[in-house]
Amino acid sequence: MYREYTSGQSVLLPEEQKTKLNTYSMHVKEALAKEKLGKEELIAMISAGGEERELLFRHAIEVKNKYVGKKVYFRGLIEFSNICSKDCYYCGIRKSNTKVKRFNLSDDQILEAANYAYENNYASIVIQGGEIDSEAFTRRIELLLREIKERSNEELGITLSLGEQSKETYQRWKEAGAHRYLLRIETSKPELYHKIHPLDSSHDLDARNRCLLALKELGYQTGTGVMIGLPFQTVEDLADDLLYMQEIDVDMVGMGPYIEHADTPLYHYKNELLPIRERFDLTLNMIASLRILMKDINIAAATALQAIDPVGREKAVRIGANVIMPNVTPGLYRNDYSLYENKPCTDEDPDQCKNCMDVRIQLADGEIGYGEWGDSKHFLKRKQLLENS
Ligand code: SF4
Repeated sequence: MYREYTSGQSVLLPEEQKTKLNTYSMHVKEALAKEKLGKEELIAMISAGGEERELLFRHAIEVKNKYVGKKVYFRGLIEFSNICSKDCYYCGIRKSNTKVKRFNLSDDQILEAANYAYENNYASIVIQGGEIDSEAFTRRIELLLREIKERSNEELGITLSLGEQSKETYQRWKEAGAHRYLLRIETSKPELYHKIHPLDSSHDLDARNRCLLALKELGYQTGTGVMIGLPFQTVEDLADDLLYMQEIDVDMVGMGPYIEHADTPLYHYKNELLPIRERFDLTLNMIASLRILMKDINIAAATALQAIDPVGREKAVRIGANVIMPNVTPGLYRNDYSLYENKPCTDEDPDQCKNCMDVRIQLADGEIGYGEWGDSKHFLKRKQLLENS
């Protein structure tokens, strides 16, 4: 699913995909019959089209129903600040983007958003923001966590997505009430990671890996994810990404299509990307393949899918995803949390968002697990094993 690029790089492109695909002899049926999925099998699955793709999806649906069921769990997403100390080349809120209007919700606004999720029976929230490494930031999050826990009678589950931090910070936040952490690796391949990040010590793949290990050691339900359809990315890279997730034994994954943002350095390569629709299809293949590879983890249907297809998240739910993150950030600020372009639902209020999601999940043959944390079954098993050892 790639061509050799003139400068020695490789990039996903549609026509060349087909040519290259023919060099892989394995069919999806053959891959699915294997007891252990390796790189070759995953390449066949990720690259599947036509009837092979249908077969992949049917198999993923069976696995999903058997191992995690039809329930879809909500995580009310609070994007509380777009101030970030990092400069990732693909991100619309990178620190060097002077065009972005910066915002930082007040504590009251964050507590109000958390309360909205609690009162509407979402059972869990995700607190997400740009990465800041300072005692004032750590302390602020710590106090907010304690306050949210207290105001929700300890009932609201909390996922954090606040980037790379020290183990001590992760520990403090865990003690204050967070129990899940999402730290996307974006790509597991060092070469590609360096192409989409500045080459400096603040953007270090090894540091990110160490953070993921620290989170697991501290007992967090740990999640990661990658972008799909990046410039220079190959199908082998994507297969390696899935194997990486299996190797580090993650509990949850949130991955979505790469959507270019005009105010970022990576936009330079926009003409060399797969058409957006094919990035979408590739993402669904990745989700279905991951569901088959890691049967009992939680997989989120990324909002970026909906930026491409109005029912994109629902399609992901149908073939493998079991978590959705409806936005509960006050509508006024959503336009400014613009990691990529054409982000959906930025003008809606949380109420509009909720009503819309109810209908959407039913249409996707799902059942909303209102009032349930919906922790990753994989994590619960992992925890049990640790307690018994
Ligand atoms: S991807 Fe995350 S860490 Fe990187 S610039 Fe954007 S918000 Fe900051």
